[in-house]
Amino acid sequence: MNAEKVIKRDNKYVMHTYARSPLVIERGQGMFAYDPEGNAYLDFTSGIGVNALGFAHPAWVEAVTQQAGKLQHISNLYYTGPCGKLAKKICQRTGLDKVFFGNSGAEANEGAIKCARKYSVTHYGPNRNKVVSLVNSFHGRTLATLTATGQDVFHHDFGPFPENFAYLPVNDLEALQAALDPTVCAVMIELVQGEGGVVALDAGYVHALADLCAKRDILLIVDEVQTGVGRTGTFLACEHYGLHPDIVTLAKGLGGGLPIGAVVVSEKVAETMGPGSHGSTFGGNPVACAGGCAVLDTMDQEFMENVNACAVALREGLAKLPHVVEVSGLGLMVGISLEPGINAAEVRAACEKEGLLVLTAKTRLRLLPPLILRRGDVDAALDVLYKVLSGWQMTDRGAQA
Ligand SMILES: *Cc1c(COP(=O)(O)O)cnc(C)c1O
Repeated sequence: MNAEKVIKRDNKYVMHTYARSPLVIERGQGMFAYDPEGNAYLDFTSGIGVNALGFAHPAWVEAVTQQAGKLQHISNLYYTGPCGKLAKKICQRTGLDKVFFGNSGAEANEGAIKCARKYSVTHYGPNRNKVVSLVNSFHGRTLATLTATGQDVFHHDFGPFPENFAYLPVNDLEALQAALDPTVCAVMIELVQGEGGVVALDAGYVHALADLCAKRDILLIVDEVQTGVGRTGTFLACEHYGLHPDIVTLAKGLGGGLPIGAVVVSEKVAETMGPGSHGSTFGGNPVACAGGCAVLDTMDQEFMENVNACAVALREGLAKLPHVVEVSGLGLMVGISLEPGINAAEVRAACEKEGLLVLTAKTRLRLLPPLILRRGDVDAALDVLYKVLSGWQMTDRGAQA
């Protein structure tokens, strides 16, 4: 494979909706991605929180290839084993009752909004359909989930938008109380805002919000598309907050690299969604679900202990690095604020040159390593970040910030 050719062809024929790094990745193994020349990159992005088990994990590869050779798809007109199997595992891990499968995070959130509106119409009639979300949130790129996304930068030029969405400033209880009027059917939140800068919500705020919602039978939708499936050190981030929402959405890490999304709901929500109320041609795909089963089966207690130990070591190491102001987020969902004058995107590019893949979120560096990492990988990533940051020429670049 010729990298130059790959880049040229992609630029010519693929819509330019992404600002790609000029790097071609040809294959991956464990914690490492490789370019066509065979250069190795330590991966602290996991494909934006997707490859929970890293690249080509043997249990995942076995499950997916077995299922692909047996039955790759048949449609939701028939029963298949892997779909129900994964749904059962998700219910057991979350304490919720039923699952609807789609193919992405946005679709999961779209489904969650539909469930909330259907529940509300069924029990309270037609005029209670407002969905409240938070400023700086990110819920997806479809029109409804884009509308729920509380960041104007994504909204330009795509209107008109679906009606009856509202945004609340994060951690502001007074604004919340005023907003939860009798027209609201659901509140949608990320417990750690990912794309918004890796910012965890205050526990006090989340509890007050959950209480208010429960009192008014407003459904609480927790978007765990990024935080879920072990990312924060527990299966759901909800566990850190002692939270039991009506609806949880999952996607990124769930399929171990295959496209899948899930709306996970309590019985009372599931009851109102009868045959014909929602659907997806690919949803519940046997191969994607077999991959999901392998991911969940691999995440046992020992696995999660390693996630938490590595998260602690990584956070401690990061806090000691030059020019680091704050380390945010939860578990292996890590945000790094750098001193004013240091551009996170430039640091990201410098790390890439040193063989380490990292992400950014707003003005922060962001790390989402595969959950299979070991202490040696943490140390290796810290070494590269130290090298890059300790040599940073503040005088050259300060003016650009
Ligand atoms: C990534 C993400 C989404 C969107 O997921 P897609 O699979 O890209 O549609 C939604 N919500 C959160 C919190 C996310 O991080």
